[in-house]
Amino acid sequence: MEEKEKSPAQLRREALCLDKKNGYDRLTAEDEQDMTAYCEDYKRFLDAAKTEREAVDEAVRLAKSKGFVPFIRGMSVNPGDKYYRVNRGKALMLAIIGEKSLADGVSIGAAHIDSPRLDLKPEPLYEDAELAFLKTHYYGGIRKYQWVTIPLELHGVIVKKDGSTVKVAIGAAPGDPVFTVDDLLPHLGAKQGQEPLNTAIKGENLNILVGSRPFKDDEGADRVKLAILDLLNQKYGLVEADFISAELEAVPAFRASDVGFDRTLIGAYGQDDRVCAFAALAALLDLDKPVHTAVCMLADKEEIGSEGVSGMKGAAFDTFMSDLCDGQRVALKACYEHSFCLSADVCAAFDPAFADVYDKRNAARVNYGMGFCKYTGARGKSGASDASAEVVGFVRRTLDQAGVIWQMSELGAVDAGGGGTVAVYMAERDIDTLDAGVPVLSMHAPFETTGKLDCYMTYKGMKAVYQAH
Ligand code: MN
Ligand code: MN
Repeated sequence: MEEKEKSPAQLRREALCLDKKNGYDRLTAEDEQDMTAYCEDYKRFLDAAKTEREAVDEAVRLAKSKGFVPFIRGMSVNPGDKYYRVNRGKALMLAIIGEKSLADGVSIGAAHIDSPRLDLKPEPLYEDAELAFLKTHYYGGIRKYQWVTIPLELHGVIVKKDGSTVKVAIGAAPGDPVFTVDDLLPHLGAKQGQEPLNTAIKGENLNILVGSRPFKDDEGADRVKLAILDLLNQKYGLVEADFISAELEAVPAFRASDVGFDRTLIGAYGQDDRVCAFAALAALLDLDKPVHTAVCMLADKEEIGSEGVSGMKGAAFDTFMSDLCDGQRVALKACYEHSFCLSADVCAAFDPAFADVYDKRNAARVNYGMGFCKYTGARGKSGASDASAEVVGFVRRTLDQAGVIWQMSELGAVDAGGGGTVAVYMAERDIDTLDAGVPVLSMHAPFETTGKLDCYMTYKGMKAVYQAH
């Protein structure tokens, strides 16, 4: 059939106006097939990686299967070499050495693998009214009312007095028990219901129910607590003091699932930012020998400000990069000033139920592809690295050439709130950086939702950035 001739106005519109289209109206059959397979791998990763430590373990397992080896200071650094380095079990750096010298800069994909959760306090176990509980201190920005009356798993490590480490993952295996934080019944919740959403559930009340059976043949106090300690002692050889040197994280006991009749969405815990972490990792693992060295950084502690030895403000990334540079007798600063970083982190997807906190014209939409975020921050871009026009232009060209579906995004309407990512810490290192990632609905909730198309396009975008030259 012959195409109808377009009117002059129509032709001008096509030539001049920004054309925003749903990704499904632009998706090729080939991309659709790859997208489905990619999202199955992604869901498997989510279920295996419920904490930053587990994300490191799973990423290392995948990297090893693609020929990556631990990078030890002093090793040779030649094109095609595939290296990784684990930072204290909680952050991971990987690199494929490119054909060009490190003096020409590297292409970095940086994401974070920590997610909001309930951490156990150092002295968590207590009994009240013959029920045993664990006290928590939440990690990252949570809406506390979302964390009650959902099933929770307990993951982490306990370092015993003798220095040995016990790994814990209770609730993850089929048949495992789960835990929960209780809430008030509506019948007695009238007063609580009048409190503001942010204070109705108090942080100090996020206590996890862990048992109810008293220790047998005992007349003393806290018999339920004693019985729980007895159980933990039999199973893990623990005593109460061992909680002091433990990192135990209560995370939602949800499996990653398809959402919707049409299965176009993924619902899971911890997609901020494991959705971008997996994209940055998978894209790196799928690379052949790149022109520039490709580096994947999976950081910890982003949700609490990127602080500490395993956060992006820490020196481990510089040490890794400097050790690589030493292998080619290149100055680290010379490498950094020619490098580019895509700070792969999620953005807020426009939610029609809460339209007033977004600027609809600039908000990311589900299924519109990878969302670039030129700036994050709050109150006049404070705390943002605010990428330059040149940097946005570079990424725009790179992704267009690779056939990636992408969109622009903003964290929300002006003065509606704000936030940050690791971008600013990369930019502070003299590395040009742009934030980009997957739009998320219900970000930081126990069950976050993403669009499969956006997940896959972020992988594809990440790959294009690694291959850019
Ligand atoms: Mn994030
Ligand atoms: Mn976050």
